[in-house]
Amino acid sequence: MKKLIITDLELKGKKVLVRVDFNVPMKEGVITNDNRIVQALPTIKYVVDNGGKAILFSHLGRVKTEEDKAKNSLAPVAKRLEELLGKKVVFVPVTRGKELEDAINNMQNGDVVMFENTRFEDINGKKESGNDPELGKYWASLGDVFVNDAFGTAHRAHASNSGISANIKQTAAGFLMKKEVEFIGGAVDNPKHPFVAILGGSKVSDKIGVIENLLVKADKVLIGGGMAYTFYKAQGLEIGKSICEDDKVELAKELLKKANGKIVLPVDNVVAKEFNNDSPSMVVPANAIPADYMGLDCGPATIELFKKELKGAKTVVWNGPVGVFEMPNFAKGTKAVCELLANLEGAITIIGGGDSASAAISMGYESKFTHISTGGGASLEYLEGKVLPGVAAITDK
Ligand code: AMP
Repeated sequence: MKKLIITDLELKGKKVLVRVDFNVPMKEGVITNDNRIVQALPTIKYVVDNGGKAILFSHLGRVKTEEDKAKNSLAPVAKRLEELLGKKVVFVPVTRGKELEDAINNMQNGDVVMFENTRFEDINGKKESGNDPELGKYWASLGDVFVNDAFGTAHRAHASNSGISANIKQTAAGFLMKKEVEFIGGAVDNPKHPFVAILGGSKVSDKIGVIENLLVKADKVLIGGGMAYTFYKAQGLEIGKSICEDDKVELAKELLKKANGKIVLPVDNVVAKEFNNDSPSMVVPANAIPADYMGLDCGPATIELFKKELKGAKTVVWNGPVGVFEMPNFAKGTKAVCELLANLEGAITIIGGGDSASAAISMGYESKFTHISTGGGASLEYLEGKVLPGVAAITDK
């Protein structure tokens, strides 16, 4: 990585601002998945173990009104972090002012302070999300150095990432940020070939940029999920009641032309009459979807075809489930993709966040991939080949 990383910094006795991504799912004040907290531990521990004063902050959810504050407080996250870290975390329930500054001034080397949700600053004029220059400057003034470990928000220029970087001498990547940039950036910029991409999910429109970029970079692009039916329509196939974006059919035609054989579509589908787990289903070839049925999963012949295409691959990037994996009867294709990738020898396998990441984790394949990104939107933009402002703002080596 050509950027500063946390191990390049002198941390002893320094006030170390650490932007983490603690945007965890919560239900009635209870954290339902603490993966993002767990993923941030190596960076936090490194600061502590090297005698730095760790000042942590993150956004959580969207905060538009005073009422949004209560359900988006980071207090429960600080508590969970304390348990995971096995160390006192001083939680400061504000985002600026004397209480925060006093807490920081009272820190000893190795102490951890965490302040309230950065998006509380959005209530009076989107100061955090709008990258208000005064706010970035103020937060930067609270520390000596800045470690950005929040890949999940790196695709946005906010006060708590780019804003601080613009006002502090050194910004370094934390360990999680480094891992994300090395794996996703590495796959897109410098992949080991054969490089195969698997793209699924509901809509073509969400992934146009990704398909276009990967058609250039990858050797094959396997397409499944709801978006396959827009491509079917572009080929003149009957798709019945399957999900389709009619205004993207022309684009799909162009992509197929440009792809010159690189795009591989499902050859069979699991179809049902209703969008419902209990709707009776059957497997039909691509050219035989009945008019009153919809495609909800890839069929077994498609999985065999994907297996053939993946054979010998050295890099695989996967984004988007290949079926309606939330319904057990239509989750088989997505599970089979997990299985194929888990058994692929000698390949770097990367899941680009979002629904395919939650599918792989919930199906028990978490440890079977080389890397599962923590950032949905950020990894998609990275796969599109875009520069992520939060990454660009990290100091060059
Ligand atoms: P995305 O957020 O674009 O990655 O899409 C993920 C969603 O696509 C999941 O909720 C899946 O249920 C949905 N999906 C996958 N395949 C299909 C399909 N054949 N028809 C409708 N939705 C689908």
